[in-house]
Amino acid sequence: MDDLQTPHPDAHQGPRAALLADLRAGLPADAVLTDPDVTASYAHDMASFCAAGTPAAVVLPRTVEQVRHVMRTATAHRVPVVPQGARTGLSGGANASEGCVVLSLVKMDRILEIDPVDRVAVVEPGVVNAVLSRAVNEHGLYYPPDPSSWESCTIGGNIGTASGGLCCVKYGVTAEYVLGLDVVLADGRLLTTGRRTAKGVAGYDLTRLFVGSEGSLGVVVKAVLALKPQPPAQLVLAAEFPSTDAACAAVCAIMERGHTPSLLELMDRTTVRAVNRMARMGLPESTEALLLCAFDTPDPAADLAAVGALCTAAGATEVVPAADAAESELLLQARRLSLTALEALKPATMIDDVCVPRTRLAEMLAGTTAIAEKHALTIGVCVHAGDGNTHPVVCFDHTDEDESRRARESFDAIMALGLSLGGTITGEHGVGVLKKEWLARELGPVGLGLQREIKRVFDPLGLLNPGKLF
Ligand SMILES: Cc1cc2nc3c(=O)[nH]c(=O)nc-3n(C[C@H](O)[C@H](O)[C@H](O)COP(=O)(O)OP(=O)(O)OC[C@H]3O[C@@H](n4cnc5c(N)ncnc54)[C@H](O)[C@@H]3O)c2cc1C
Repeated sequence: MDDLQTPHPDAHQGPRAALLADLRAGLPADAVLTDPDVTASYAHDMASFCAAGTPAAVVLPRTVEQVRHVMRTATAHRVPVVPQGARTGLSGGANASEGCVVLSLVKMDRILEIDPVDRVAVVEPGVVNAVLSRAVNEHGLYYPPDPSSWESCTIGGNIGTASGGLCCVKYGVTAEYVLGLDVVLADGRLLTTGRRTAKGVAGYDLTRLFVGSEGSLGVVVKAVLALKPQPPAQLVLAAEFPSTDAACAAVCAIMERGHTPSLLELMDRTTVRAVNRMARMGLPESTEALLLCAFDTPDPAADLAAVGALCTAAGATEVVPAADAAESELLLQARRLSLTALEALKPATMIDDVCVPRTRLAEMLAGTTAIAEKHALTIGVCVHAGDGNTHPVVCFDHTDEDESRRARESFDAIMALGLSLGGTITGEHGVGVLKKEWLARELGPVGLGLQREIKRVFDPLGLLNPGKLF
């Protein structure tokens, strides 16, 4: 009787077994992972509180042909596919959906070409950002986009999320450096977009469309990236302010006077303390806002002196230029540690990514403090101040139901505040699953409708990274 009521495990395994057999037919044996403990470890990126399903398999192709085989097979079986890089994402964009094939690109990690004349690098998607940066430096070249996670995140993931970083205030974000792409479409066709030339306006800019598409339109298998000549080493200045208002006034003054800092970052008091707690950096704990400004110009000391004077005029209590490159690097390390240090304050965090016009930054930070007070929560903020891109980190205990509710409310209130100030809900981390409802609010019905139609053109069966963005 029991046998009749309880379906045999193979009854469930049928379609999955057929999927696995077809995947294995075009992939090396070690490129298809099915051990549940192993596949579970690929289910999540680094965002808290984002739903994730159980993958049917994780595949690790090494060639474009193998990626095409995976997509053809998934389409034939009508199984969703979730492209993944290093899973350092902060919005759940790389999270598995139930029964999906996780398509990890980390084994496609070759730098195919570095050309100092065309000033391009041609890379596979699994190349780690810092590895590329160091490789092009050896040719006297520079790949600017530098997310704080640069030692682990991949170029494919950077393209998927349109990543920013510390030096974007001067050099721009990932989108500005992606010239052309090879993309495997949902049905396995291989699309080449863009160019490797200095200029080119042939047709719609599909390259740009893929940047920031969060794996929902196609799988990037090759990228042509623009490079810059390597600038001189940057020198950093640290300025202490008695309020975030004063620090933001300094940011506005620096930009208004036409300075071109290679980095302009702000850490609030909670962040400074968190970094000290984690790494004993000796940062000044009594300051309300620590502003870091850097120049990689021919005479950085002169530029820092001019900016130092602007900081003092805006109310800085202390202005300390780094003595040399080593001291500068230490300050940068402190800033890069900020998110990780804030995450260590409480068992759980939700990281906002609201970007506002620089002129509204002071209101954004004051509003965030008010939200933290209203919800009785610790919210530390680190800011790509030169870009107006704030990262309020809501710290809470996820085992406390009431605190979790207040955390979600404040996370949402911060996005509402950003929109009311003419900003966007995400400057660089993407929408993923974390900010889906908010994308609709930012785009409005016409914008959202068109985006859905674009998705249908590329992925009519809705198999690529379903449940993300919309
Ligand atoms: C400590 C820390 C600091 C961070 N600092 C920054 C920062 O300063 N700036 C910033 O922008 N981000 C930052 N991030 C977020 C994260 O590192 C970036 O979003 C990064 O670009 C993700 O790269 P990844 O390789 O981990 O991609 P994943 O997280 O694996 O994937 C990200 C998205 O890209 C898609 N994707 C991945 N590979 C491909 C591909 N080949 N083709 C198509 N789609 C693909 C995925 O489906 C997913 O939607 C930080 C994260 C951490 C943990």
